[in-house]
Amino acid sequence: MTILPLSSWLPFSTPPLLIAGPCSAESREQVLQTAQALKKETSVSIFRAGIWKPRTQLGSFEGVGEEGLAWLKEVKEQTGLLVTTEVATAKHVELCLKHGIDILWLGARTTPNPFAVQEIAEALRGVDIPVMVKNPISPDLMIWRGALERLSKVGIRKLMAVHRGFSAPESKELRNLPQWKIPIQLKNDFPNLPMICDPSHICGKREHLWHISQMALDINFDGLMIEVHPHPDQALSDPRQQITVEVYKKMMEGLLLKREDTLPPPAKKVLVKFRHEIDAIDESLVELLSKRMKISEQISALKAEHNISLFQLGRFQELMRERAKRGKELGLTEDFVAEIFNTIHEQSILRQSETSPEKKD
Ligand code: PEP
Ligand code: MN
Repeated sequence: MTILPLSSWLPFSTPPLLIAGPCSAESREQVLQTAQALKKETSVSIFRAGIWKPRTQLGSFEGVGEEGLAWLKEVKEQTGLLVTTEVATAKHVELCLKHGIDILWLGARTTPNPFAVQEIAEALRGVDIPVMVKNPISPDLMIWRGALERLSKVGIRKLMAVHRGFSAPESKELRNLPQWKIPIQLKNDFPNLPMICDPSHICGKREHLWHISQMALDINFDGLMIEVHPHPDQALSDPRQQITVEVYKKMMEGLLLKREDTLPPPAKKVLVKFRHEIDAIDESLVELLSKRMKISEQISALKAEHNISLFQLGRFQELMRERAKRGKELGLTEDFVAEIFNTIHEQSILRQSETSPEKKD
């Protein structure tokens, strides 16, 4: 994929790229008031507002539609901010192009639908416009990549990815859980791809916005997209996660936007020493894992000889309980230990099944 770096097509924007605006465009007044305040009070360079809203619940506000595109055009003319909105069909694309929308985005419910993405891509063939692709609702890197690749294939080179967290119905704290390793992997695959974080849809409530934003900046995200509304509690969509321009401004002032790229030499020396220690520990971890798997193979042979099943629930439960307990004593979180030992145990069972003498017969 050819992806142009952000600096080549948005030269005026010093990182991080700041995108803000209401979840939905609700009225001309609400849109213009928010945009003017953002322009005056903040260093936002892109104004967002949903025109067609993909809502989970029937009967929720589904956006003002085409009428709102004219308001975004006014935002451009009055403030000079670039404007962006979500598109989910070829018709949306056509209308956005007609009204001079600067940047389009694909939402989390569109990204995983190859028919919709292809339809949007076809409508964009030969058009030089930046497109942001939000991660799909499920934590699947290949689906996210697939949507980006479909757009790349029709010639879109100003691509960006937006991490808005993954569906987590059981989560009480956050609406959509971030899984930082997935955007990090995507960045690893496409180093030029600008990575934006959308803390509003990750959090679902205002309380955690600062924390998630700082976290994203700390892992070198290229920008933030945050929902801002003049009267958040009265917003027609996502009222709990939107903030006023005033609160946005305060929050941005509290963020450490850019860390230094290089360390002073004495600190660098210490860092190198720590990294050597980590390397040595990782080397031991890999050796220990290999040793553990070899024992699994021996267990497999023994189980086959005595005709007992590979997986034993009682043993699994005991192992998970004991490792969690020990991990806790040593300052590791239960979730972390559980994730690691679930993976190790699963691999061990797979290895046993592959090496089982019965299978070889
Ligand atoms: C939005 O940004 O308004 C939106 C609907 O987001 P998502 O697609 O991430 O749910
Ligand atoms: Mn929203």
